[in-house]
Amino acid sequence: MKTKLTRVCVYCGSSSRVNQSYLDAARELGMVIAQHKLTLVYGGANVGCMGAIADAALAAGGDVIGVIPKGLVEKEVAHQGLTELHIVDDMHQRKALMAELSDAFIAAPGGLGTLEELFEMATWAQLGFHTKPMGLYNVNHFFDGLVGFLSHARQEGFLADAHLSLFNCEQSPKQLIEQLETQASISQDKWW
Ligand code: AMP
Repeated sequence: MKTKLTRVCVYCGSSSRVNQSYLDAARELGMVIAQHKLTLVYGGANVGCMGAIADAALAAGGDVIGVIPKGLVEKEVAHQGLTELHIVDDMHQRKALMAELSDAFIAAPGGLGTLEELFEMATWAQLGFHTKPMGLYNVNHFFDGLVGFLSHARQEGFLADAHLSLFNCEQSPKQLIEQLETQASISQDKWW
């Protein structure tokens, strides 16, 4: 089966109390996604790196789909300028809809929410529920420690090589997107 990348989901931090370089990097990724004619799917908030990536993708002429639970519309300040905003009942529906709408998943720097979303998609891939490519946007080496920990888990026998290699780890947003595009277009049996 061949898949063309059309919609990319980005999980990223909602905190605004982060170094400016993370917000700038989120903007760069949003711009690159739009330049590659891809639609951004994200959590629908207008705060932190989430707001930054959405604004940049929209400013570069891209389409952006947000998915936010009704309980967070005020807390995370739902973005009012998106191409589409889906307001769902709860976190489970949010993750399920984001997964369904997207052909690939990227985790950018973020906190517990970002990691939880990333690992849910990774465990679904491990179980064979999807074969969509996944990436880590390694701004400022943010994910080096996580990749090191996963390598440790593999060495200790808890993780297979194939599952460790699920994570395409890149500092350059352009390279990351192009890697995901290549993986999505390869016959999935070859890489999965
Ligand atoms: P954080 O990385 O903690 O700043 O969170 C990033 C985004 O993930 C925010 O929009 C959170 O609402 C969201 N999030 C946190 N926990 C969950 C969850 N269990 N399911 C879905 N989204 C979540």
